[in-house]
Amino acid sequence: MKNRLKFITLSFFIFISIITGGCEIPSVLSDSNSLKDAELTVSFIDVGQGDATLIECGNEAMLIDAGLYSQRHKVLSYIANQGINKLDYCVATHPHSDHIGAMSQVIYNFNVETLVYPVCDENAESFNYVLDACDERGVSYLNPKLYDTLKVGDATLTVLSPDKGEKFDNVNNYSLILKLEYKNVSFMFTGDAEADVEKELVKRGENLRADVLKCGHHGSSTSSSAAFINAVNPAAAVISCQEGNDYGHPHRETISTLEKRNIEIYRTDLDSTIVAASDGETITFYSGNEVLGTATANTETVTSPTYSYIGNKNSKVFHSLDCSSLISTKDKNKVYFITRDEAESKNYSPCKACNP
Ligand SMILES: [Zn+2]
Ligand SMILES: [Zn+2]
Repeated sequence: MKNRLKFITLSFFIFISIITGGCEIPSVLSDSNSLKDAELTVSFIDVGQGDATLIECGNEAMLIDAGLYSQRHKVLSYIANQGINKLDYCVATHPHSDHIGAMSQVIYNFNVETLVYPVCDENAESFNYVLDACDERGVSYLNPKLYDTLKVGDATLTVLSPDKGEKFDNVNNYSLILKLEYKNVSFMFTGDAEADVEKELVKRGENLRADVLKCGHHGSSTSSSAAFINAVNPAAAVISCQEGNDYGHPHRETISTLEKRNIEIYRTDLDSTIVAASDGETITFYSGNEVLGTATANTETVTSPTYSYIGNKNSKVFHSLDCSSLISTKDKNKVYFITRDEAESKNYSPCKACNP
């Protein structure tokens, strides 16, 4: 009798919903991607010209970047409004003020367990405020190395760049690149990493496939190279920037690279804060309560060539991938080999230190 009543009630709701043409889902039906019930949410917080991304899974949370100091109220109130008082990780992708300007305020206002950041000699002065805040609040530090993983609930984030101690000429290229995987869905966060790094990852033969790409450097044409976008092959791309910003972000070239590949584009300058909610199979994108679109996990496996050796074009010496002498080798001087024979056939000789 109870079931029968439930059936009648449900039919009535569906009937009403159909006749009113409404797409409102009766509350008796559960929606595992609704903002309330999602297992994983990724919020691309509108912080004007900057980046701040909040990841929540299970009862754990990670903030990747915090935006400019002048925008601090936006990131602080957003996190507080989620009912969060503890952040398991705060990630400072690289020490530019549009990423870490408000991070000290986050550290003073919430219980942050660990600050994750790349070792970068050119630390901006504002980064010292972040480190001071960590010392005052007893936050621990982590300078990750390549392939280290961080857990947020059952979501796993893997560090794809840089390796600990790796050196770059451009501070943007120090950006921590993290790939998030939860059940069958995946997200790629690249900070402001530019095309040199993107291409390096493609050459290295990483599995870069992700359902959602947070476009590097606010949609600048210095990032989102065609080779990288092809390798990530996302269903959707998110760009974080301010309307009418001084840099012209997102650049026309980036939009065209994405549009040509039919990649759905979500932008904080147009949509304000964007929330991607997922059950691990599909992803629903929201702006407020409005559904902007959906994406389904692409589970095809990618087979890209795996490089096992790196040669130095100047010295004509080749190394195993973990050889310490590669740290000082500039990217533009590197050449990649799949086999030992390939390296030797091009007149490269093996490194005496790593004996590849
Ligand atoms: Zn930057
Ligand atoms: Zn930036």
